[in-house]
Amino acid sequence: MTDDDLSTRLIHHAYRPPGGFEAVAPGVYKASTVIFPDVHALRTYDWKDKSGYTYGLHGTPTTFTLEQRIATLEGGEHCLLAPSGLAVISLVDMALLRSGDEVLLPDNVYGPSKTFAEVELVAWGITPRFYDPMDPQDLAAKIGPATRLVWLEAAGSVTLEFPDVPALVARVREANAQRRGEHAIVTAMDNTWGAGIAFNAFDLGADISVHALTKYPSGGADVLMGSVVTRDLALHRKILLTRMRLGLGVGSNDAELVLRGLSSMSLRYHAQDASTRELAAWMQAQPDVLRVLHPALPGSPGHDAWRRDARGAACLFTAVFDAAIPRERIDAFCDRLRVFRLGWSWAGPISLCAPYDPRSLRGQPWPGVGGLVRFAVGLEAVQDLRADLAQALDALRA
Ligand SMILES: *Cc1c(COP(=O)(O)O)cnc(C)c1O
Repeated sequence: MTDDDLSTRLIHHAYRPPGGFEAVAPGVYKASTVIFPDVHALRTYDWKDKSGYTYGLHGTPTTFTLEQRIATLEGGEHCLLAPSGLAVISLVDMALLRSGDEVLLPDNVYGPSKTFAEVELVAWGITPRFYDPMDPQDLAAKIGPATRLVWLEAAGSVTLEFPDVPALVARVREANAQRRGEHAIVTAMDNTWGAGIAFNAFDLGADISVHALTKYPSGGADVLMGSVVTRDLALHRKILLTRMRLGLGVGSNDAELVLRGLSSMSLRYHAQDASTRELAAWMQAQPDVLRVLHPALPGSPGHDAWRRDARGAACLFTAVFDAAIPRERIDAFCDRLRVFRLGWSWAGPISLCAPYDPRSLRGQPWPGVGGLVRFAVGLEAVQDLRADLAQALDALRA
């Protein structure tokens, strides 16, 4: 037997394991191409309706399973995956916008989404405009004949205002009532905060829900992925074909990690919510803290809309510090934290914090505000987190 014979015999080995294996975790299937049984299959298999497999980029049993579960999580019908939360945001923009169009974004939108619009979309002749999410009239005033897409986010990134989503959607529907169907404005919600648990984005009126699965569905802080869920098949197909043309897909090992996290997601969401509310209320009572932003706190922007529309809150709160406290002391406070680590992401096991300059957030000025620190509460014991905050607050007075 030559080495070449051995290669062929190993690659085309005849053994097939028996069928009927079933376990708690779905299998991990990986592929560039799939192997077709015959030419007819190669010509006719359709991946778009999930009735067949054609190429790894278009789906495997592992990624189809995750897509179906995410659609269920969010109360939608159709789901597609892409390599990150930011990738699904830019994918929706690219699928739905053309040169000459306008897109409206809330002025507290996830920062990289704003940057994508201001740099890439502008370069393609698409105009982003920013509206105040707490003022549906402002949105109505900014909708123009060229508006094609309106982004929604509840709660807003970092500043965590909870908008009246049904009122915002109502303004879009009023504008659509004046138009022919083909130019209807589409609403897309970044649903990472609500995660499909705090509320149903479609019941609040969104046409599209995008979700950074990087956060709660993964829960492990070890994988990046995003999803786009819709109830409308035509909208799903449009975005799906753009994803195909861009060559975006996810690896099955990553999909497996998200499938693993998904089983415990609801428990984690509610546990982290409880810890976060406790810490946010405690922080609000500290003399060095001007205020705490968290929609469940009375007085926090959008508290009433949150109470009406949400059944929970994500693991984020933001402490606002007085302008009298210099930035170096806020930085020292963050540096002194031991259980909270420094980092951007959230919804993983480890609690995180990050300082923000108020001048970089929202269009409006923040009178009397020196700095903000956003906290993401993990799965540690809440008393350890509270003690960590208490010891680090000394640094503000140093
Ligand atoms: C993290 C995040 C994203 C982006 O997700 P990545 O997977 O990190 O790209 C988008 N929107 C919100 C609200 C996020 O918190």
